[in-house]
Amino acid sequence: MIDSMKIPSSMLPEDGRFGCGPSKIRRKQVAALAEAGTTLLGTSHRQTPVKHVVASIREGLAEYFSIPDGWQIALGNGGASAFWEVACASLIARRGAFASYGSFSGKFAASAAKAPFLEKPVVYQADFGSCTLPKYTDDVDVYCWAHNETSTGVMAPVRRVEGSREQGALTLIDATSGAGGLPVDIAQTDAYYFSPQKVFGSDGGLWFAILSPDAVKRAEDVENSATLEGARRWVPPFLSLTQALANSNKNQTLNTPAIGTLVLMNEQVKWLNEHGGLKWASKRCAKSAKTLYSWAEKSDYAKPFVEDESFRSNVVVTIDLDDSIKASSVVTALRENGIVDTSGYRKLGRNQLRIGVFPSVKPSDVEALTYCIDYVVEHLQ
Ligand SMILES: *Cc1c(COP(=O)(O)O)cnc(C)c1O
Repeated sequence: MIDSMKIPSSMLPEDGRFGCGPSKIRRKQVAALAEAGTTLLGTSHRQTPVKHVVASIREGLAEYFSIPDGWQIALGNGGASAFWEVACASLIARRGAFASYGSFSGKFAASAAKAPFLEKPVVYQADFGSCTLPKYTDDVDVYCWAHNETSTGVMAPVRRVEGSREQGALTLIDATSGAGGLPVDIAQTDAYYFSPQKVFGSDGGLWFAILSPDAVKRAEDVENSATLEGARRWVPPFLSLTQALANSNKNQTLNTPAIGTLVLMNEQVKWLNEHGGLKWASKRCAKSAKTLYSWAEKSDYAKPFVEDESFRSNVVVTIDLDDSIKASSVVTALRENGIVDTSGYRKLGRNQLRIGVFPSVKPSDVEALTYCIDYVVEHLQ
């Protein structure tokens, strides 16, 4: 048994959670949860007190994202992964164009390819660590990509494909790890959807979607035609976007949500808005990310994985290590000192660290992390 390495406590970050989801949950959120422990937890989600929390989240998100008139906020159970299936069932009319440049963006395209009532999707692919957007494509009715590819640390632009509106195609953005930490113009999207356990430092299990009037209309049309005689499509109630929206507008969900998740989410949305909103949060994330990229560029054993600087994510930072240093040993030593979840994405299989620098993570803690990594590498043997 080798003794574990001890990083001097004066070097350690205040909080050692750097995961990309679930991500750090702030103490104040946990305190709010404790407070809710005897009033909200264990009570009906169809009664006013819990509905009030849902209303507060929806209003808070509308403010945070400065949503255009007519856009609406829906939520449901199952996380962003469930929303992919909701989109296949309720939003894609016939065929979609997708960009795939990592594990998550690839998964949505794979779902669409398997849906028997949809035509084979058109997939624009880029290598891991790089990025591409879907190009204008005839005969598609949705364009889909991820704002931030969590598996590789790549952030992508969010703007409509030229000509997409004229052809009546929707823009569906998986914003799970980007929403709330990266600037966005919601008017460039028809569905901007995400799970709460990344930027919003809440727990998993829910999806949120900001929907344009065109997206709502599409869901109505798709679901209506699915009920016609001879239609090949099955829209299960659980995957029905119109049912999700009808419930959301009553500040409920189709089926029972985790009330704890709602309480944590509400606390975080309020905190973000109070501190200066998306502008403040995205600056804070950019600052933390810059600390890491600059440190890596100066280091003689580390370098940013994403070569093109414009695609380097400000919320999920990926750093390759020299082959002489095993990233897994660094990750283990950090964990022994309370610094957790710094390993690269499993399926990427690189000698890499991946660090979540969401708004809850203090920029000063990110700086401390760089000292700790240097310390560990120096003392590894
Ligand atoms: C985490 C993540 C998902 C999956 O979220 P779940 O809540 O686990 O379904 C989807 N897309 C992106 C970009 C993610 O980061």
